[in-house]
Amino acid sequence: TYVLYNDSILDENDVAISYKDRGYHFGDGVYEVIRVYNGHYFTLDEHLTRLYESAKKIELEIPHSFEGFKTLLHDYKETVKTENGSIYVQITRGASDRNHLYTKEEKPVILGFEVKGKSVETKQEEGVAAYVTEDVRWLRCDIKSLNLLGNVMAKRKAFDHDCEEAILYRESGVTEGSSSNLFLINNETIYTHPANNLILNGITRQEILTIAKELGIGVIEEPFPKEVLLHADEAFISSTSLEIVPVHTFKGDIEATMSVGTVTKKLQQAFKERVQKKTNA
Ligand code: PLP
Repeated sequence: TYVLYNDSILDENDVAISYKDRGYHFGDGVYEVIRVYNGHYFTLDEHLTRLYESAKKIELEIPHSFEGFKTLLHDYKETVKTENGSIYVQITRGASDRNHLYTKEEKPVILGFEVKGKSVETKQEEGVAAYVTEDVRWLRCDIKSLNLLGNVMAKRKAFDHDCEEAILYRESGVTEGSSSNLFLINNETIYTHPANNLILNGITRQEILTIAKELGIGVIEEPFPKEVLLHADEAFISSTSLEIVPVHTFKGDIEATMSVGTVTKKLQQAFKERVQKKTNA
């Protein structure tokens, strides 16, 4: 297996990461997961833009130009010959003696690898159950940070209740999933949390909002209380790996069921067409 390590593509056995890397001590770094369809990256610019933005928000300077990083990711994809799957890429602040205080002199470390695609077709067709639970994460969920303890704890809780995903809420309303964004549909209108500090502004989310606009479907980006989940016509989650997956059951702090609806299906169809169009170049 080949691994992207700084600006080299190495055999996995030749990758030596320092025990002093701040990624281990503090989760001090940021990451992206980028989808490859038919041998082409999907929304690569959008993912890289978000990576640079996340890095800037934590004062981590990526040691590559945008175009240079893009070339690196293209070279890596060609080396591992990804046809359909994802490329994970993270950048940590690098090695230092363990100390909360970073000096801005650290040398960032890039690590990337291929993640084989898993079939999500059944989930896309039949929908999944989701576990509604409190959002206990920090207040900078807009940063795609390696600190994911709140997310992994929520995901485990969801699986322990036979649910595919955790849906998180705060006093201010429902935010997002542990690794996805959440959308509701009521009276043919789409509702989702605004892209502020309380959610990660998913690239899939942004694609869906563009598609909705094209299809003339109304979108309201406002927080809503978790009780709204009780009487949603339709609900779905979105992410790079899931695309659009309907939710048929809410469990946990809200219990409700719903069927896979027509608006969700229309969006799924349009999303697939968009992927086809954008990855055929
Ligand atoms: N929200 C969180 C917390 C995530 O971890 C993710 C991605 O894994 C998303 C939303 C969806 O983002 P994207 O569509 O860019 O994959």
